[in-house]
Amino acid sequence: MVIQIDGIPAEVVRKRMKTLRLTVLPPDGRVRISAPMLLPKSVILAFAESKAEWIRKQQEKMREREACRPAEMRFVSGEKLEVWGKTYILRVSEGTRWGLSLERETAMLTTRPGCTQEQREAHVNEWYRGMLKTEAARRLPVWEERTGLRCDSWQVKNMKTRWGTCNPNTRKVWLSLQLARKPLECLDYVILHELTHLKVRNHGKEFQAFLDRYMPDWRERRKQLK
Ligand SMILES: [Zn+2]
Repeated sequence: MVIQIDGIPAEVVRKRMKTLRLTVLPPDGRVRISAPMLLPKSVILAFAESKAEWIRKQQEKMREREACRPAEMRFVSGEKLEVWGKTYILRVSEGTRWGLSLERETAMLTTRPGCTQEQREAHVNEWYRGMLKTEAARRLPVWEERTGLRCDSWQVKNMKTRWGTCNPNTRKVWLSLQLARKPLECLDYVILHELTHLKVRNHGKEFQAFLDRYMPDWRERRKQLK
């Protein structure tokens, strides 16, 4: 059964339960009401209407979240490719060997004939990984020297939800290969941030004071990563 709550459609599902439950489901904000088997429809309607305002707010939040998510790349010509904070237009062509090169405003991706979107993405990620490794190998020692904090090892990993991590016990630093899309000053910030965790595990006052000392504009750099 579908009811209308102030113009919002809601699906009602009858269940063996004692109380009414209303949920707004991601990602599109669909409304579902779970109701006890014999509860009169009028009671359900009254309950739902009392929640109309709340439903609208939830749906709005979900729409905003969707809008913030970067559109999924298909790695085809005309798409934008970010490299160190600069935007290039992707041009994809077929060839005998894989390749990716930057020329002025264009990123030229050469693929093998008949390759899939996943293969193109994997190739671009490997390219990002190489770029990031080269830069990190240059910059990490500089920050170690400046701060006196040294990690035992570091590695680049395709992390999508974090820019870096640090394990203070093993003194190992991980950097997300997605950092190759962001300006280099962001990479410096993440390197300093993770090295600082070798000294301070949380993000409290001592941690921030340490960042302030070595990188007074770290807050602005962090903003660019959001
Ligand atoms: Zn941290």
